Amino acid sequence: MTIPQSLLMSLVLGLLSTLSASGANLLQVASFSTVLTEIAQQVGGDHVIVAGLVRPGQDPHEYQPTPEDLRQAASAKLILLSGKHLEHYLDKVQQATGGKAASLAVGDALASLRMKVDPDEKAKVSADRNGMIEDPHWWNSVVNVEKATVIVRDELSKVDPANRADYDRNARAYLAKLEELDQWAKRKVAELPRDKRKLVTSHDAFQYLAKDYGFKVYAIEGVSTETEPSDRHIADLIDEIRKEQVKAIFLENTLNPKVSVEIIKETGAKIGGTLYADGLGEGDGSTYDGMVRHNIATIVDSLK
Ligand SMILES: [Zn+2]
Repeated sequence: MTIPQSLLMSLVLGLLSTLSASGANLLQVASFSTVLTEIAQQVGGDHVIVAGLVRPGQDPHEYQPTPEDLRQAASAKLILLSGKHLEHYLDKVQQATGGKAASLAVGDALASLRMKVDPDEKAKVSADRNGMIEDPHWWNSVVNVEKATVIVRDELSKVDPANRADYDRNARAYLAKLEELDQWAKRKVAELPRDKRKLVTSHDAFQYLAKDYGFKVYAIEGVSTETEPSDRHIADLIDEIRKEQVKAIFLENTLNPKVSVEIIKETGAKIGGTLYADGLGEGDGSTYDGMVRHNIATIVDSLK
């Protein structure tokens, strides 16, 4: 049987388009942060293929790279990291890539909030000599995500200068949306009187948001979800919630609500809803814009 030439031609063209769709000519980026995955996709547009190794809804404090994740990181031209000591498995990444890929710890270029570790807390975090640690949750500030977008734009332009104009244009469009998001959040928070801006959360993930929008955070667990709150800390928190007459406390999409439920029983506060603390998730939180709108609306509407 002979294959008609036109059919052969269309098979060849189909194969070629499959090859280019599989990323033969695209800049390969590997990201260990769900928020950076979105930024790289938005700014990189058609020129990049981004492997999001920490997946939406995954707890980045407990995440460990699989052999397949490390293989993907090793084949990337650019590796994006959250920074601020969140990636406790960096040695594995370095070993897998042999230091060949450019890796960028985006958060390290952003100003840090520092906090004291509770000495009772079995903290699995790297504290300095004075027991202070850097808060890794920079993405809960929209302004930080704007800065991160500029950092990613500049790095993509450096690695792939031929497409600089497109990266500039894509970044401008994404930054405009982030600016609109920040303005919306400010208006929404303004509905809540200052003395009601008390945020009780499962772990200490919202200090950057609190600083931007004037909240005080009372966290059950420390900055890592791997820490355990002491009985003393929980007792103090219960006193504080009663004294401050906090109306609602919030759960998180990746955490077990056991201790929160106990505190709710003791204080009579209600469950305010579930927040996305550690990056993108499913549902509302599948985009950064949706995640922030969900968090801010849930907080403001429950505390009113
Ligand atoms: Zn966290």
